Amino acid sequence: MSNPSHCIIVGGSHAGAQAAASLRQEGFAGAITIISSERTLPYHRPPLSKASLCVGACDQDLFIRPSEFYAKQAIEVRTATRVTAIDAQRRSVQCDNGEQLFYSHLILATGADVRRLILPGAELPAVCYLRDREDVLKIRTFIRPGGHAVIIGGGYIGLETAASLRKQGMYVTVIEAQSRILQRVTAAEVSAFYMRVHREEGVEFLLDASIECLNAEGEQTAVQLADGQRLLADLIVVGIGVLPNVELARQLGLDCPNGIAVDEHARTACENVYAVGDCTYHHNPIYNTSLRLESVQNATDQARVAAQDICGKPTAYKVLPWFWSDQYDLKLQIAGLSNGYDRVVLRGDSLQGRSFSAFYFCGARLLAVDAINRPKEFTFTKRFLAEGRSADPSLLADESIDIQNCFTQEASSCH
Ligand code: FAD
Repeated sequence: MSNPSHCIIVGGSHAGAQAAASLRQEGFAGAITIISSERTLPYHRPPLSKASLCVGACDQDLFIRPSEFYAKQAIEVRTATRVTAIDAQRRSVQCDNGEQLFYSHLILATGADVRRLILPGAELPAVCYLRDREDVLKIRTFIRPGGHAVIIGGGYIGLETAASLRKQGMYVTVIEAQSRILQRVTAAEVSAFYMRVHREEGVEFLLDASIECLNAEGEQTAVQLADGQRLLADLIVVGIGVLPNVELARQLGLDCPNGIAVDEHARTACENVYAVGDCTYHHNPIYNTSLRLESVQNATDQARVAAQDICGKPTAYKVLPWFWSDQYDLKLQIAGLSNGYDRVVLRGDSLQGRSFSAFYFCGARLLAVDAINRPKEFTFTKRFLAEGRSADPSLLADESIDIQNCFTQEASSCH
């Protein structure tokens, strides 16, 4: 029988945990159950490639909220449990422990899982991925000073991992299939900057590289490249992107172009079923584009929107995306979406030192900023972008002009 007021949240990470907390904040009085395939309470994922990767790191700090929070808010968290099927007619979910639970509202916060390497030797023991705490525990067993780590993929996860492993005395080689690292997400100038800093820190790069196979070689693993090069590794970390977990949504017959399609209230096309976080494909009205985001900001903000809708306070999701990445002493903060840019303006010197900002324009419109060790430029740009204001490229390029004075007073018409 259907529970008149029971919100079931599938997935206990950033989006799931926030959805539960926001439901209570917005006044949801019914039962709330988070069903999480993870073994622990919801935890912060970003540190996994940063501080947590260090042997001996304190894992207790990772929890998003302490256990008392869930008890006090009457939020039940069922860990180590996977939802295997949903019956939308009966409004029930089936769990892998045989249990069936009934919902009045269902929130899919199933996130994303790593894209796996498909080539001979990909299953060898030293081949690791980095998405959850179990992955971190496995990687830590291979970390030893003087050992050689090969990172496959020069995106944020791969580069953060490279920095964390260098800090622990490993030799690191990053293998990237494209002609530059971070190609999908940043301008060439920013890629070149990160490559320079990583090289200064002792990381080696192989670009335009393709791997043929991996072979066990004693205690090590040989990475065989198509151009004949061969690397011996003690640890291999694969960071080649993620795929949204959409199987449950597909079972419901939902449209999943690149993630579960949701509207501005995080509603799916199935009544009383919502989706939030990394698993969603949604419209961003600020950029008039539909996309899937992989960020804590999106996971938490979209979860709030779903909770508001469930509590009868619908608020359309309209938030400027933002993101960060930490590598060595570099704090990168990104505001906005740079997709479709036709011009990049640098503020500061990307060729020397470790601090500058890259502003992305499309025509006269400022789209986004990558601010490296420039929190003030990030903060003001984020605020002004959210207000729909653009900036004068020549003023931005002149560091003697205060960042606040580089922006237009009026919101741009294309906002
Ligand atoms: P996820 O975190 O993917 O969680 C989904 C959860 O649902 C998982 O625990 C999964 O096991 C569970 N699940 C899936 N299917 C089921 C099922 N059927 N039944 C039960 N449970 C299920 N973002 C930033 O903004 N800044 C950063 O610096 C940053 N660094 C990162 C570093 C790493 C190493 C990683 C992996 C991610 C990083 N991210 C960062 C991205 C950020 O962590 C994600 O955007 C965020 O975790 C998304 O939250 P989510 O709840 O939507 O999904």
